[in-house]
Amino acid sequence: MQPKEISVFPTGNKNDAFAQYFTGQSYLNMLSVEQVPIGNVTFEPGCRNNWHIHHAEKGGGQILLVTAGRGYYQEWGKPARELHPGDVVNIPAEVKHWHGAAPDSWFAHLAVEVPGEGASNEWLEPVSDEEYGKLK
Ligand code: MN
Repeated sequence: MQPKEISVFPTGNKNDAFAQYFTGQSYLNMLSVEQVPIGNVTFEPGCRNNWHIHHAEKGGGQILLVTAGRGYYQEWGKPARELHPGDVVNIPAEVKHWHGAAPDSWFAHLAVEVPGEGASNEWLEPVSDEEYGKLK
């Protein structure tokens, strides 16, 4: 599938660096690599990242700013939240979660890396087809 320009921010290239932590094809364009890192992440339909945790000893976490398409955010043990352009998701450090596209829609969000002390990302298991398959 060809990358789609679905946001006002350029889609960029295939997200090869993190492909092992995604199901399906995603694209990553780092819009800011100074001060606060901000990436434009685009997901093809059905694409989502693995369960993961943004660790930090103080501060940290991630903020998602939804720019295009339809997708989901889910925290471990909670129902998935459907996302649309204009939605904002505050993800505290140490919360296990995933984010990605709906099965039938492209999806794009800006991922803001909230500065923190001792910050690191831990990538965990994929979101199962059984679990993802429940989503519309
Ligand atoms: Mn995340």
